[in-house]
Amino acid sequence: MSSLAAAVQRHDPVSSGGSDGLLAEDWLHIQQTLKLKLGEATFKSWIRPLALHEFSAGTLIISASTRFIRDWVRTNFLDVILDVSRAQNAQILAVAIIVNPRAVTENTDSNDRAFSNGHSNTLGASSETDANRSGIEKVGALLDARYTFDNFVVGKSNELAYAAALRVAESEKASFNPLFLYGGVGLGKTHLMHAIGWHIKKTHPKRKVIYVSAEKFMYQFIRALRYRDTMSFKEQFRSVDVLMIDDVQFIGGKDSTQEEFFHTFNALVDQNHQIIVSADKSPSEMEGMEERLKSRLGWGLVADIHPTTYELRLGILQAKVDQLGLECDNSVLEFLAHKICSNVRELEGALNRIVAHSTLVGREVSLAMTQEVLHDILRANDRRVTIEEIQKKVAQHYNIRITEMHSAKRMRSVVRPRQVAMYLSKSLTAHSLPEIGRKFGGRDHTTVLHAVKKIEELKKADFNLSEDIELLVRTLRMS
Ligand code: ADP
Ligand code: MG
Repeated sequence: MSSLAAAVQRHDPVSSGGSDGLLAEDWLHIQQTLKLKLGEATFKSWIRPLALHEFSAGTLIISASTRFIRDWVRTNFLDVILDVSRAQNAQILAVAIIVNPRAVTENTDSNDRAFSNGHSNTLGASSETDANRSGIEKVGALLDARYTFDNFVVGKSNELAYAAALRVAESEKASFNPLFLYGGVGLGKTHLMHAIGWHIKKTHPKRKVIYVSAEKFMYQFIRALRYRDTMSFKEQFRSVDVLMIDDVQFIGGKDSTQEEFFHTFNALVDQNHQIIVSADKSPSEMEGMEERLKSRLGWGLVADIHPTTYELRLGILQAKVDQLGLECDNSVLEFLAHKICSNVRELEGALNRIVAHSTLVGREVSLAMTQEVLHDILRANDRRVTIEEIQKKVAQHYNIRITEMHSAKRMRSVVRPRQVAMYLSKSLTAHSLPEIGRKFGGRDHTTVLHAVKKIEELKKADFNLSEDIELLVRTLRMS
């Protein structure tokens, strides 16, 4: 039994009261939160194999099955585990990690395969029990068959990245070195890298290409250090023609890996071998990265992928529907392109869900069905409206100047629109009354409250006003 659970039974002052299972439950929540924060893959490799050991004197002690996992988690995740644990249970003041070989480990990452030679490539926490104890494993990942240039829909937001990727894939010598692709999540960085890989594999099968996520690069490096086999690690990377490292932002803050990455990088560039790197930020914005590495990353071509436009989203949906050979009304695609603007991954997810639903229940894809099946996603994607947008739209609607929203004028012609804007700010944004007051020329929260009440009241009796408001809400949500 954990000491916290024991303390709970003894009514010790450290306990928060509750049942025996309290800490176990906390641990479950902590793990769930970490899964959300770190993503499925990291969670599976590093967090899931950890076990709750005990709680003692404000310290949450967790155990790992091997020293290797302990060290890795300690270096990379202890901070976030502590943050999440504290938020979960205020009694947790510190987190410690120990080795307990009996702790459960579960790790089957069967998707990882070496791309260059097709060997199985088990990257994971159970490394110490792996049959392959020689240390170095082949690095690389099998390329996703769907991620080709043919399947990539080009629009304004990604045309530069696309053109650069294609150029790199087509040229035998290093063109822009490195090619640095950056952009928000789900906008096609990984897709383009795989596409480069496929293209080279097809046109120049002899060229050695490695695609690896930065996380795996780090993992392999640490593993090589552990087995004192950094030579073959270096050899492996330095002998490739094209090296692609995805999501390099993860290398930030990890000094020894950065150092190694930097050397590998220089060695390859010196030999005129192509490097392609992706990240969620531009080189200069990368946190925890050494200046010399940042500047080196920016040497070649830095191509950013912007958020998608409506046209691109529609194009992607149409391409996807064609690929799948689906019958789907255009109005459904237009609706989705309009509503799901976050990123392409979510857009695809939404379409897949509709298709799955329609096949399962044998229902035709229609607009009504789409709305029904996706109601949760649609709600999350409802546009976040800002107070500034509200002020602008309302001012336009009533034909007053936007400065009147902040002014002290009390004429009815400006007071009413101002009140409408305050009312809309309260109902369409998550801002508090004082915050709203501040955005309206530093007015008091009671003024805002009064405006909200006033409009609610008037709306009931004044048909014109209620129509105005409905129209404003609609345009604000749509724009
Ligand atoms: P990132 O690596 O930038 O987070 P991904 O490359 O994983 O994004 O893209 C997420 C999903 O969206 C993938 O399934 C990818 O095929 C798809 N996708 C992104 N952009 C496009 C595009 N322009 N055309 C077709 N599919 C795309
Ligand atoms: Mg990616």
